[in-house]
Amino acid sequence: MKYLSPLAERLEPYVAGEQPSGGGWIKLNTNESPYPPAPGVTAALGSAAFLGKDGLNLRLYPDPDANDLRDAIATVHHVSRENIFVGNGSDEVLSFAYAAFFGGARYATPEVGYSFYPSYARLFGAETHFVPMLDGLRIDIPGLAALSLPTILANPNAPTTIAVPRADILALRAALHGSGRLLIVDEAYGPFADCSVIEEASRYDNLLVTRTFSKAHGLAGMRVGFAVGSPDLIAGLALARECFNSYPVDRAAQAAALAAVKDTAYLDECVRLVKATRGVVSRSLSALGFEVLPSETNFLFARHPGMSGRELHDRLRERRVLVRHFNKPQIADYLRITMGTAEQMADVVTALREIVEGAPL
Ligand code: PMP
Repeated sequence: MKYLSPLAERLEPYVAGEQPSGGGWIKLNTNESPYPPAPGVTAALGSAAFLGKDGLNLRLYPDPDANDLRDAIATVHHVSRENIFVGNGSDEVLSFAYAAFFGGARYATPEVGYSFYPSYARLFGAETHFVPMLDGLRIDIPGLAALSLPTILANPNAPTTIAVPRADILALRAALHGSGRLLIVDEAYGPFADCSVIEEASRYDNLLVTRTFSKAHGLAGMRVGFAVGSPDLIAGLALARECFNSYPVDRAAQAAALAAVKDTAYLDECVRLVKATRGVVSRSLSALGFEVLPSETNFLFARHPGMSGRELHDRLRERRVLVRHFNKPQIADYLRITMGTAEQMADVVTALREIVEGAPL
């Protein structure tokens, strides 16, 4: 690439999962929901209230602060509008958090985590201190606490699927508070687990929690994420946004997320179905000889002693099943498999049975 700035020359982009063209794929590589969003979403997007006559409302920029959506999110999570920041996917919310709170500084994160974090770090000149994992790819909470650095982790963690108990997250927050440090908890997969600290985030000045509409709400196509924290932390995120894009969340995204967040019964049902599928698939893979990490997400992280992660990925791809493989130390043997519908997953288990039963152990 020509003409790159010295900053851009140091960047290392995150590589997103493939979005294949053409039909016939079972797509289990980006942790999307297999279910449509709440019925109110399509109704809202097609409504005269949203569009205005002949789409006249679309002339206008969206509300830069997304106040209606913030109010609805605040109600669901028992906090106030001032505790909520909304962005263009939680990736954008996280990037603003890096700019506002980690930029130009040193921060800590588990060595195996969401691989976007080091990309943000390079973009905003933050120095990443990776904390090694404990046995079984578990996060070392005491190790993070001992460093006394601003800290970010995903809980449940990605791609390992494992959740740190709530009490341990709150203990880490308390330890970091003692040294005047911020803790960011990325709860993209929080709805599938039982470890959330989202309701505590408004109570402490050093805890910021991020969430997404892309997974449990089935709205990845709309790109909406949010953060919950003290009004001061929310103002920090708004400061970063206002140096970047005044209107990152468009009108359609705000309307869709507003309809989705109100339908908590539908969300609960989608989460229930995904968890049921997760249990069935986890047991089936274990029976095939896979080692499956204990998942509290909408995906599984599994390896097989008889075949490399890359080979399993490639053999599934030949059968038009897309899963994610990371060619990285410690996790290269694993596959990350998003939970599709029960029917899709039955086909995937059959495919994996055929693949591994043909493999020498
Ligand atoms: N955090 C984690 C841990 C994720 O896996 C993802 C999805 N790739 C995100 C954040 C970002 O999700 P989105 O930008 O779609 O809200």
